[in-house]
Amino acid sequence: MAQLSLDHLTKVFTDDDGSDIVAVDDVTVDIEDGEFLVLVGPSGCGKSTTLRMVAGLETVTSGDIRLGDESIADQKPQDRDIAMVFQSYALYPHMTVRENMSFGLEESTDMSDGEIHERVEDAADLLDIPELLDRKPGELSGGQQQRVALGRAIVREPEVFLMDEPLSNLDAKLRSQMRTELQRLQEDLDTTTMYVTHDQTEAMTMGDRIAVLDGGELQQAGTPLECYHRPANRFVAGFIGEPSMNFFETTLEGDTLVADRFEYPLSSDVCDDVAGADGVTLGVRPEDVEVLAGEPSAGDEFATVVDVVEPMGNENAVYLGFETDPTDPFVATVGGMRQVEAGERVVARFPEDAIHLFDVATGEALHNRSLEEAAETEPRI
Ligand code: ATP
Repeated sequence: MAQLSLDHLTKVFTDDDGSDIVAVDDVTVDIEDGEFLVLVGPSGCGKSTTLRMVAGLETVTSGDIRLGDESIADQKPQDRDIAMVFQSYALYPHMTVRENMSFGLEESTDMSDGEIHERVEDAADLLDIPELLDRKPGELSGGQQQRVALGRAIVREPEVFLMDEPLSNLDAKLRSQMRTELQRLQEDLDTTTMYVTHDQTEAMTMGDRIAVLDGGELQQAGTPLECYHRPANRFVAGFIGEPSMNFFETTLEGDTLVADRFEYPLSSDVCDDVAGADGVTLGVRPEDVEVLAGEPSAGDEFATVVDVVEPMGNENAVYLGFETDPTDPFVATVGGMRQVEAGERVVARFPEDAIHLFDVATGEALHNRSLEEAAETEPRI
């Protein structure tokens, strides 16, 4: 068991016309012993390159990678005690499942046939695929191939698992089932794991912590709930959460945020948090927008018209336009049984204890929602 540390890790590629592409930019993060860290971000943000450097499939431009106390940045891939699971599964088509799972051990260890047999049988039991051991990959479903790919990593009993979008070829139902299975598996094996995905639902549900990357730079590393409720910046706030957080550009005039279509007075405490910022982005999550009947009666309430309602069963996404200028609607989520019709006039409230404020110039969070207030309104189990 070991901690994996990325220390100012940087990767610069040179493209065909000689210019530099900084794929990974000074990333520092520790993945604790036994921790499940999900690396998440949009396409091209440097996730795979980071993982490939840890696996040894890509050289490091600068910075270091340590496993425990030892630097592994210059070690050959086969000398690193790391097993990687690829999106494509990368199974050998002419080999049976058993052969696919045992091949790496036969090639790179001096374990006896009996020991290898036992490891493969144990992993197959763990993954619930003992009846598939004598089949070839072409005779397996996508989900079964995925399990074999995991099995091949598990039999090596490595210090670290690296997983690069391992569920992305599966259909939605199997994906969500495998998500739960993978989490259970990682808890049972207690192996330090770095998992790459662009899917924020996977990141939120699977990770002990998530590391959010954008443009090769680490934006935030924290628990899923920290990143959700206390985003470090506007990028994280917008990337984590579905539907996304609503954003409004404003300027601070006295103690009031002035936007194109509304004004929002701040209490003195919140106003102190944004003092000195030229422009302030007001953020509010869809589930925090209260949809009320009647007329606006406070500074945090606005007259709106329902543009579109998207029923999702458990909840409705309600797109609302300001009555004064209904272009560019924002979204509120309400309970699935709540009757709301397109064209209806409703009041939207942005409660101050749920708002987020970001510096327009830097994107940095100046004020995040209060977690105490949120906890108080939720019943304890
Ligand atoms: P995706 O989710 O689409 O797989 P990613 O976050 O994994 O994306 P990377 O594959 O790590 O992103 O790529 C990061 C950046 O580095 C991109 O701009 C990409 O074009 C560039 N890049 C990756 N590999 C190379 C390479 N071999 N040569 C040049 N540029 C590369």
